[in-house]
Amino acid sequence: MTYGLGPVSPPPPRKPRRLDPRPHFLPDVSAQLDGISGCPALQVPDGHLARKVRDIVAQLDVSSLEAKYSSLGRQGHAPRAVLAVWVYASLTGVHHATKVAAATKTDAAFRLLSGGREISEATLKRFRQQSLAFFQAALQQTVDIAVARGLIDPSAIAVDSVRLRSAASTKSVRTAERSKRRLSELQAQDESALDDQAKAARKRKIEDHNAAVEACAATDRTNIVTTCPSAGLLKFPDGASGAGHRVTVSATGVAERLVLALLVGYASHDYGLLKPIVEATHNALERAGVSEDVRLQIAGDAGYFSENDLVFAEANRSRFDVLIKEGSYATEDRKAPKHFGREAFTVEGETVTCPAGRAMLGPKRKGGGRLVWRGEGCESCPLRERCTSSMQRAFEMSPALEAARQAMRTRMSQPDAKTRYNQRIATIEPVFSGLEWAMGFRRLSTRHSAGVEAEITLKLLAYNLGRLIELAERPAGAAGAGAGVRVLACLHGELIPALSERVGTPFILRVYLDAA
Ligand code: SF4
Repeated sequence: MTYGLGPVSPPPPRKPRRLDPRPHFLPDVSAQLDGISGCPALQVPDGHLARKVRDIVAQLDVSSLEAKYSSLGRQGHAPRAVLAVWVYASLTGVHHATKVAAATKTDAAFRLLSGGREISEATLKRFRQQSLAFFQAALQQTVDIAVARGLIDPSAIAVDSVRLRSAASTKSVRTAERSKRRLSELQAQDESALDDQAKAARKRKIEDHNAAVEACAATDRTNIVTTCPSAGLLKFPDGASGAGHRVTVSATGVAERLVLALLVGYASHDYGLLKPIVEATHNALERAGVSEDVRLQIAGDAGYFSENDLVFAEANRSRFDVLIKEGSYATEDRKAPKHFGREAFTVEGETVTCPAGRAMLGPKRKGGGRLVWRGEGCESCPLRERCTSSMQRAFEMSPALEAARQAMRTRMSQPDAKTRYNQRIATIEPVFSGLEWAMGFRRLSTRHSAGVEAEITLKLLAYNLGRLIELAERPAGAAGAGAGVRVLACLHGELIPALSERVGTPFILRVYLDAA
């Protein structure tokens, strides 16, 4: 007797699982009731800034961010939600990932934006550090939106820079000059008189200073910040010097005050930065659909009244109408301010007359197209003490710079230039006050080279999104800050005390600032 079950048939071929190639993210549970923290969607009132941030971030294309995620493995936080959290945090003055992470546990507005999820500090930091390219593209998207809404005026652009403190300590700043001096002091020490510990400390210091001198030479810098290579030694407006970043920004519109482009660097001054920021601005507007034929009008302060910037402005006058005011300190002889400056010498062709009325000897040609004259009879000159501390006064000049300087003076003397230039302060300074005072962002929270630029770009992206939110709420045809200044300027003297009582000090203060 057989109990045959018959031939066993092979199992049917397994249907291959069709995976959705699109990445999946944690679902938004902000509308669900959480037993402990409640329901963010109910807790956050209509019209709250968090809701406005969520709406405007929803308009951004984040596909480049989402493409970095795989459809396999555990689901992560939606990049759009993390971006919205960072934008809201930036606008409300929370800049450290630790604090933002804590807020996503307890703050209803943050939980609404995070999709009802807690986001860890590590996730927030990683997102910010790795998303520079996206932040730059998103800033461009804000310019695109502004152009589409008619908020960009190519004839009202201003450029300037702000200094932000680095997350690095001042102790980590090394200047080539000081390191060389310390090296010679250390090498002059008698090593035999030192104990083992002191010898080791001396050796370490020599290595550190040698490394600093070599790094400065390799990067053609006068100083480096050992813990943050993208920072430099900067002097801040309060007079203190320390590690910092120079952020050069172009913005448009007295009423709109939207950022168009930015550069992050470590230069101690603005010289030579006009060309890169103007070209970045031009590219941003071109990408946003502004015709290449539109001539941009750009105002910059005396910090750009330097050779490279003036020569660039003059060479590109057909494309960009650049207005730069000459500062009272814009002299060639910056190293010796006690001595006669450039304005005390008269230049006519290749003849230079010194303050004593004597024709100077020269010119001799130097590199870079520069010419040098030397004083004649300086030894017996009664003005010598005010003219030079050397045997003979040298006067150096670049004909290209002179021509560019004269062209800028001519442009600035034209009737429309002063009015237009005076709008510069109301266009660019509110961007910096918004960043430093309204958003409270004066110091970076990262020292990583990739993270520094990403963090600064994120803050300016948040600033632009905040401006777009405000501008969208303004009733059609409502006056901007510029119009407000004009109206109140007419009333100045009679009605301002009465207005102070009615509208309060902050409004009046703002009016005075803009009017200045
Ligand atoms: S010191 Fe020489 S260059 Fe200066 S004013 Fe006198 S003569 Fe002229």
